[in-house]
Amino acid sequence: MRVKKFIVAANWKMNKTTAETLEFIKDFKLQFKPMADREIQFYPSFLSLPPFKNEMSALPIRYGAQNCSAQASGAFTGEVSAAMLKDFGCTTCLVGHSERRTLFGETNEDVALKSKALQQAGLTPMVCIGETAQQRTQGQTLEVVAGQLKAVLESIDLNTPFSVAYEPVWAIGTGKVPTFAEITEAHQFLRKQLVEKMGDIGKSIPLLYGGSVNSQNARDIESVPEVNGFLIGGASLKVASLLEIYFR
Ligand code: PEP
Repeated sequence: MRVKKFIVAANWKMNKTTAETLEFIKDFKLQFKPMADREIQFYPSFLSLPPFKNEMSALPIRYGAQNCSAQASGAFTGEVSAAMLKDFGCTTCLVGHSERRTLFGETNEDVALKSKALQQAGLTPMVCIGETAQQRTQGQTLEVVAGQLKAVLESIDLNTPFSVAYEPVWAIGTGKVPTFAEITEAHQFLRKQLVEKMGDIGKSIPLLYGGSVNSQNARDIESVPEVNGFLIGGASLKVASLLEIYFR
């Protein structure tokens, strides 16, 4: 059991108005050609989901939100539930991105509960994990990512799809990329954790790398063992740079 398709996932963060989203979609549709061995995913802002539903749902792509509530419904002002995302055609959602953890105080427990809520609504959580620069310097990388992963694995249904994005916090938006040895070490370690917990099915969980991926370094990073996809921030905002990575 192996990961079937290489995933190229675009995290737009808090970028693009509706007009800018529609402009991107128009351009994307002109240039996109589906590839048998690759899948493209988009994570736009909540408010750009309607344009995705209206304009992109006929295309062989997947899209979802960058966050969701762990609650099903009720008095949670400002929150959006997994069922609401499903209404807009989302089949996936980011959880625990480092910006949510560091800027909005999300804990491993929050990430685990959100992942569970997504699965229960029929969406695939893309669980983001990764160490800070200080944790890496102090030799805590593997311990930190193991803890982040474990919290989720203990809470979700392991027979229902999910994916994992390893994103060293210090590599996000900085232009700094870990060495091949560092990416290999983290990805092989995470694969081992998945297989230990899940058995053979752990080999089928997509393990993405994220952190300053661009059209210059994508080909090299893709060759690292156990890298099954990319989560891309900055370089995903323009059709040309995203598709350069997608088409290699
Ligand atoms: C991200 O936000 O998940 C990310 C990897 O950003 P960037 O590609 O800009 O480093």
